[in-house]
Amino acid sequence: MSRTPAARPEVFSVAPYVGGESKLPGVEKPLKLSSNEGAFGPPPSAITAMAEAAANMHRYPDGSSAALRHEIGAKFGLDPARIVCGNGSDELLVLLIQSYGGPGTELIMSEHGFSVYEIAGKIAGCTVKKAPETNLTTDVDAMLALVTPATRMVFLANPNNPTGTLLPQSEMLRLRENLPADVLLVIDAAYSEYVDRPDYDPGVALVDAGENTVMTRTFSKIFGMGGARLGWAYAPPAIADVLNRVRPPFPVNNFAAAAGIAALREPGWLERGRAHNTQAKRRLAERLTQTGLTVYPSEANFILVDFGTEDHAIAADEHLRAQGIIVRRVKSYGLPQCLRITIGTDDECNRVATAMAEFRRG
Ligand SMILES: *Cc1c(COP(=O)(O)O)cnc(C)c1O
Repeated sequence: MSRTPAARPEVFSVAPYVGGESKLPGVEKPLKLSSNEGAFGPPPSAITAMAEAAANMHRYPDGSSAALRHEIGAKFGLDPARIVCGNGSDELLVLLIQSYGGPGTELIMSEHGFSVYEIAGKIAGCTVKKAPETNLTTDVDAMLALVTPATRMVFLANPNNPTGTLLPQSEMLRLRENLPADVLLVIDAAYSEYVDRPDYDPGVALVDAGENTVMTRTFSKIFGMGGARLGWAYAPPAIADVLNRVRPPFPVNNFAAAAGIAALREPGWLERGRAHNTQAKRRLAERLTQTGLTVYPSEANFILVDFGTEDHAIAADEHLRAQGIIVRRVKSYGLPQCLRITIGTDDECNRVATAMAEFRRG
């Protein structure tokens, strides 16, 4: 028998990540509402900036992304020295887990939390523990009940994907106050720019208040730049230092950096995206609710629709596909009876609502 190289056993504890689908057999231009990519595509100035950066592609990027960090700091009122940029926020989540987790440590997330925490945690050798949710919302007490001396990290997307639910700032504070000081709390704020509520903070306040909380953000959602792979973390100085040691030499390429800077400067982009999302989400939820479906309240740029049974959810998905519309099945998140639908343009939302009304009429 020939011998072959063996990867660490942890590697086989996870299945390869499957992103939102983008193709439908026989459909030339499917409507892709499976990855929460922002309704309006990339900002026009970001496209131009990326094209202009092409002439300099023989130059290595600035590995520390100083210009981009400066621009992020200016836009959101943050100290650029505490910002670390990455190849998507996923990379920063993985780097945090590699740095603070590992064999013998425990990582806590909530029942329907974002899958990357579990995948990266298991690969790093952490024991991943999931806290039950209440009404599809993170339950702070259930999370705290899982803490042991081996706990090193708690991950929380706020708003969460795929549920769309939000923890108000008072609950985030309560979570942080009751976690041991040496447990790292990671607040994944990928959808923060969509939130339209006064009792919300994306994580900045908790990062500033101590030395044990990190916020991650992304250009993949409201900025419409998922294909460019650009994310950032805002962290206390000691954690930013750790990330700067473990990050690859050049995590952000010249094109993503140039496009990111332009996107941040595009006047009104965030406001327009948020305003559209709030309106379109409310209208789509109303129209689906009118057909008798349950739509969970969402603070993000997608809605989670409950079809009651897995069979009914699959039949709905198949009907949408037959109309050229791709949404996301969320069985792998423990929600087989649900579909997650990204909020697109008004026309796109109309197509979804019309197709679902047809489906419900039978
Ligand atoms: C989309 C998403 C991300 C973003 O990932 P990128 O790597 O920045 O594209 C992070 N967290 C959650 C919860 C998401 O839904």
